Amino acid sequence: MNTNEIMVLGLGLQAPWHLKSQHLDMAKNPHELHLKIGAERGSQYPCPECQRMCSAHDFTEKRWRHLNFFQHHCHIIARVPRVRCPEHGVRQIKVPWAREGSGFTLLFEQAALTLVREMPVQAAARIIGITDKRLWRVVFHYVSQALSQFDFSEVRAVGLDETACKRGHNYVTTFIDMEKSSEPVLFVTPGKGKETVRDFKAALESKGGNAANIAEVVCDMSPAFLSGIREYLPESEVTVDWFHVVQKFVKSVDETRKLEHRHTPLPKGTRFAVLKGRKKRLTTTQINALDALLEMKSETVTAWKIKESLAWIRNAENLEQAKERIQVFIKKAMKLLEGSKYTASVIAALETLKKHENRIIQRWGIQKQ
Ligand SMILES: [Zn+2]
Repeated sequence: MNTNEIMVLGLGLQAPWHLKSQHLDMAKNPHELHLKIGAERGSQYPCPECQRMCSAHDFTEKRWRHLNFFQHHCHIIARVPRVRCPEHGVRQIKVPWAREGSGFTLLFEQAALTLVREMPVQAAARIIGITDKRLWRVVFHYVSQALSQFDFSEVRAVGLDETACKRGHNYVTTFIDMEKSSEPVLFVTPGKGKETVRDFKAALESKGGNAANIAEVVCDMSPAFLSGIREYLPESEVTVDWFHVVQKFVKSVDETRKLEHRHTPLPKGTRFAVLKGRKKRLTTTQINALDALLEMKSETVTAWKIKESLAWIRNAENLEQAKERIQVFIKKAMKLLEGSKYTASVIAALETLKKHENRIIQRWGIQKQ
């Protein structure tokens, strides 16, 4: 087997295509391996419409970036014919190693996409040695191809959540299918407002879904989401995710600690001692901090006790019990907070709990079914 034959095997070339020549251009840095591919004079090629074998009408030289050959960049160069089909006229043929309009071979694109899965596009582009703009074009092509195959006609239950990105106040909102355990993402859009729900509705309906079919939406207690859901997914029942309730109380403990610490120095280790769950393992410093806080009867420790007691609601066995426990919980917590100075955010969390009680207890209804 000579080197040409090895190359042909590597490229998966089939008749009429074969490797005509190879040349390593050492004037370039990195060096470039040029593989010239061609067909014998008088060869016939399939018409792209009807696959009938036709003669060439004319040729244009084209070039594709291929997988690196060791450290050398590799390019495929071929004279690609247009055929003259008796039925379809003059047509550009398709080459088997690349998709139409791409300057890369299919194998190159596949390798590039493998990198993009693991790292940002810009980093992948740098490794491959192309501009990120060109790589984005490849990504967009395959992503929109995959998206065009989405079918949302069966979507009934949706979860949405916002995430901060790029450190700061840039947000994206992600919509997921609550009934799918693998690859549940339906739609991702910039922002965290009401308009994200409007855009989701449009995406849903463009893929065969129907807003009227959405019976359940799980989200946090953000007023923007709730008003978007009321307007664009009016048939749905909103369930507030328990995780978001806990998050609200965790934040309130931290707020209380910050305020209190300004007036009364709190023991070392306080911050994480009160943020961690009771079941998580605490360090010795954190345990000592908790003991000292309890001793001082600090307001931070009161906020912490309230946050930790949420588990009691969480463990309710049914909807009725959950409802009852929420009421008892709020009453007891308010009593504990009487006369406190730094716990405004705990009171706000309790008010939110009260306000969204019906949406929060939905989850017990779902579990029972
Ligand atoms: Zn044809």
